[in-house]
Amino acid sequence: MRILVTGAAGFLGSHLCDRLLAEGHEVVGMDNFLTGSPDNLAHLAGHPRFSFIRHDVTNFIFVPGKLDAVLHFASPASPNRLSPYGYPNLPIQTLKVGALGTHNTLGLAKAHGARFLIASTSEVYGDPEVHPQPETYWGKVNPIGERSVYDEAKRFAEAMTMAYHRYHGVDTRIVRIFNTYGPRMRLDDGRVMPNFIQQALRGEPLTVYGDGSQTRSFCYVDDLIDGIYRLLLSDTHEPVNIGNPGEFTILELAEAVNRLTGNPAGVVFMAEARDRDDPQRRCPDIRRARALLGWEPRIGLEEGLRRTITDFQRRMQGS
Ligand code: NAD
Ligand code: UDP
Repeated sequence: MRILVTGAAGFLGSHLCDRLLAEGHEVVGMDNFLTGSPDNLAHLAGHPRFSFIRHDVTNFIFVPGKLDAVLHFASPASPNRLSPYGYPNLPIQTLKVGALGTHNTLGLAKAHGARFLIASTSEVYGDPEVHPQPETYWGKVNPIGERSVYDEAKRFAEAMTMAYHRYHGVDTRIVRIFNTYGPRMRLDDGRVMPNFIQQALRGEPLTVYGDGSQTRSFCYVDDLIDGIYRLLLSDTHEPVNIGNPGEFTILELAEAVNRLTGNPAGVVFMAEARDRDDPQRRCPDIRRARALLGWEPRIGLEEGLRRTITDFQRRMQGS
């Protein structure tokens, strides 16, 4: 297949390009470097089946040649208002890439008769009242909160995707991604993994927001990409959760990072840094992915953290 990946210079987009190329496909990457970096694609320079177009997908998209699939991954993804790359500091861009960017990429898929896959998120469940979260849960989202620019854009993106599927017959897929981590995450986007790993490697206390009792379920990037690839090849139009159901409190994560890095500095609690709509619990129900895709995550938190810490060490030394 010849496949367009938007957000290709980002964390997930770049790993997705690698997997698609390894499967023998031709890949066109597209990105405007809002939160991503050319460094994430540097290893693909000169690859005979990879090309790159620098473009903001909120504007009309033109790609020369045929396309068999369009994978829309462009969007800021960090909720941290303390980072310039967090979506509370990129609110209009985030709303536009989820809304206009999704409209443009769906229009492109329709014009090419291409398959379409949108990167949605566990944030569509908001601060959930149902635990773990199945795809049938409709969510509890604050429409005007700090996270709403992201959550509501993604909910609109899902609605737009289903509208193109139902009304125009576009062959669509929706993946609801739960917290994913691994090599190439932006060092300074403020998400919990880059924050904790960097702080630990510098021998600083880890900044736990709130009291650290909130939970997340962390999926290693290779597992996530495998689930997405299976979804792309499936004929599933309903949303599918992809994430690792192993659930940890943020304090447990901090302790694991400190243990694996040998950081003696402990943690510091920052009650005020936690935003009001920060979900208290999050864990994917992955029965649909198991049944329809035969997918199961394989890499546990400790192994995934070791691999991620090695990558961060290398990049922090280089910078
Ligand atoms: P990222 O910030 O590393 O990557 C996003 C990429 O999109 C960046 O390279 C950025 O420059 C690009 N981009 C943003 N706006 C653009 C625009 N208008 N035009 C072109 N490119 C644009 O984040 P990520 O973690 O790789 O997330 C990728 C996708 O996966 C996002 O859609 C995100 O919502 C979704 N997602 C990620 C996670 C996760 O845990 N990593 C969880 C849920 C959903
Ligand atoms: N968090 C934290 N310390 C940090 C960064 C984040 O305690 O330095 C917390 C944050 O409040 C949230 C969780 O870690 O409860 C996960 O945050 P992240 O930004 O990775 O993404 P989210 O899952 O909230 O979208």
